[in-house]
Amino acid sequence: MASVLLHDIEPLPFAGEPLIIAGPCSAETEQQTLDAAMALRQIGVNVFRAGIWKPRTVPGGFEGVGDRGLPWLQRVKSETGMAVATEVATVEHVRAALDAGIDILWMGARTSANPFAMQDIADVLHGHDDVTVLVKNPVNPDLELWMGALQRILNAGITRVGAVHRGFSSAGEHLYRNDPQWHIPFELRRHAPKMTILCDPSHIGGKRSFVEPLSQQALDMGFDGLMIESHCNPDHALSDSTQQITPSQLKTIIDGLVVRSGLPVEDDLALLRQQIDDCDHELLAVLARRMMVSREIGKFKKAHNLRVVQPERYQYMMNNRLAEGKNLTLDPDFLQRIIQAIHEESVRQQLD
Ligand code: PEP
Ligand code: MN
Repeated sequence: MASVLLHDIEPLPFAGEPLIIAGPCSAETEQQTLDAAMALRQIGVNVFRAGIWKPRTVPGGFEGVGDRGLPWLQRVKSETGMAVATEVATVEHVRAALDAGIDILWMGARTSANPFAMQDIADVLHGHDDVTVLVKNPVNPDLELWMGALQRILNAGITRVGAVHRGFSSAGEHLYRNDPQWHIPFELRRHAPKMTILCDPSHIGGKRSFVEPLSQQALDMGFDGLMIESHCNPDHALSDSTQQITPSQLKTIIDGLVVRSGLPVEDDLALLRQQIDDCDHELLAVLARRMMVSREIGKFKKAHNLRVVQPERYQYMMNNRLAEGKNLTLDPDFLQRIIQAIHEESVRQQLD
């Protein structure tokens, strides 16, 4: 059977306009999992999420309860009637989750970045065409890698496939935990016009207060739904405690969401403007980092009794940047003005 192409993926059949998937970052105990599920069911959530295998960036954190959590999710399913979703990262996870009748398996950002892992997972999924698979964006902002991960699942004959945008890792301090780079999911939409694409404001924002504005922004930008982390006692959550919200806070957010129609996701000008916004966002972050380094240099020069302006260094820097700019087809006069302005500000910072 020829596999479905990204372009032809149909929307997922779960109820909800927008579709809301909510639940704790991690299932911690049976009681905590059931309490969250009951409270979320009461506020109208139909799809429950909880991680049982947690991929931690550094070792030592809470790594999830493992297979022990599967019967808890089965109880959620039978006692609340909700569909249940969990993250899978290995072949063993997939087998165990399928055996337990988990409705939705999602691939986390660290897994979708790894084509070998994705292929292994796709191979075990083969023949299980009643399961739904969500693929989060890879940690790095690489659309091809994301689309490749989705295509591997489609090639395994799975047709209930969707994507989740959770932002991208980046170096340095930023407003959000994960940089949204919205143009990437917009591009994905262009390649898969009907596919369900959800936004995960919890992992993008990394902070409770960002969940509401990011959720509204996501809907305004044409996402089909939201995956939101919700825990009855967020401050005591064993993972991602700063970004989890209580079911009642989630209710307030859902009640306040404005669902607009016909928004300019496919509007070329909106797409281009979004790219400009993203570029400026990167420019500002780089400028701030540069000034921070300048201040460090300023301290060093002071401590070693060196002059702040060293003409040979400035001359070298200007020539080097102009040559590099030429390769990048930047106008030399424009570039010279920018380098002068940056240098001037950098000297001012060092004199402070
Ligand atoms: C999660 O959903 O809890 C998770 C670990 O997500 P991500 O893969 O987006 O980091
Ligand atoms: Mn999490």
